[in-house]
Amino acid sequence: MNVIKQPNFIIFGKNSINEFNFPADCLIVTSKGAKKRGWLDFLKLKNYYIYDKVEPNPSIEIIDEIISDFSDSNFSHVIGLGGGSSLDVAKFVAFKLKKFKILIPTTFGSGSEVTRISVLKVNGKKQSFHDDGLFADVAIIDPQFLENSSQDVIKNSAIDALAQCSEAYDSKLSNNYTKFLCKKAFDVLENGIMNEKYEDLATGSLYCGLGFGNSSTTLGHALSYVFSNEGISHGHALAFTTTAAHEFNNSIFYNRFYKIVKKLNFKRISLKQNLTEAAELILTDRKHLDNNPQQISKDDIVLLLEKINSDTIFNKI
Ligand SMILES: [Zn+2]
Repeated sequence: MNVIKQPNFIIFGKNSINEFNFPADCLIVTSKGAKKRGWLDFLKLKNYYIYDKVEPNPSIEIIDEIISDFSDSNFSHVIGLGGGSSLDVAKFVAFKLKKFKILIPTTFGSGSEVTRISVLKVNGKKQSFHDDGLFADVAIIDPQFLENSSQDVIKNSAIDALAQCSEAYDSKLSNNYTKFLCKKAFDVLENGIMNEKYEDLATGSLYCGLGFGNSSTTLGHALSYVFSNEGISHGHALAFTTTAAHEFNNSIFYNRFYKIVKKLNFKRISLKQNLTEAAELILTDRKHLDNNPQQISKDDIVLLLEKINSDTIFNKI
């Protein structure tokens, strides 16, 4: 049996944000730059509450902080506006408060607006929470936010989406429907990056979120978190860990993924932590590893980390 789950309303296309009628009583959850970047002007809200202190890789403590900050405020909807971190926090807050959720990505990689996943740090380590209650009631995907994005944001988001859809295509949890979405996502994202048609990244990331959100990411993501724990951004880590994972898994996407990583010119990364200890931690990530198409041992993981550290993953082609 296969099941597909997604938000009730997915609104997408350029200027969709301008055509949507926002409710009057909203709490906006976003990051510091939201006002400066003019994001709030797009929404044309008259009265709203706002929490604009979400930082990258937020900790779970922020949820209770927001709930207590706005305990006396009256709102029916929570609007998540921003990158994956803002959306993950917004959906978790709304879930706990049983409020409606409107999720609006401004970077296009995590697919958070259409998944039932929220990634938050617990005791300094990233953890992903999965629950149907985390689905948006409305997801609005509007590529006009890409116009003000820096090249760095674009490349980190795009490689995350590319890693997600290609890992999910190979996942043991995949089915024909998710494979169809993931393959289409990869084609659209690849075309967007290689031909610098960045508007395509919004649609590609939407297909990706729907595909991987109904299957799972695998080894590439499992390997990436130890690098994130040392401060390397999610997309930057995946450029290397997913390449290594695709080689290990013999993925049909290995060559194409590799070429995109080369084009985006990511700086090499290196894990400072002891590799055996890192491998032991990675092995506990069963959510990702149990869905990996190939079984993987601690020794295999150490070897992959050594390859990444010595920059030899790209020597094959
Ligand atoms: Zn990811």
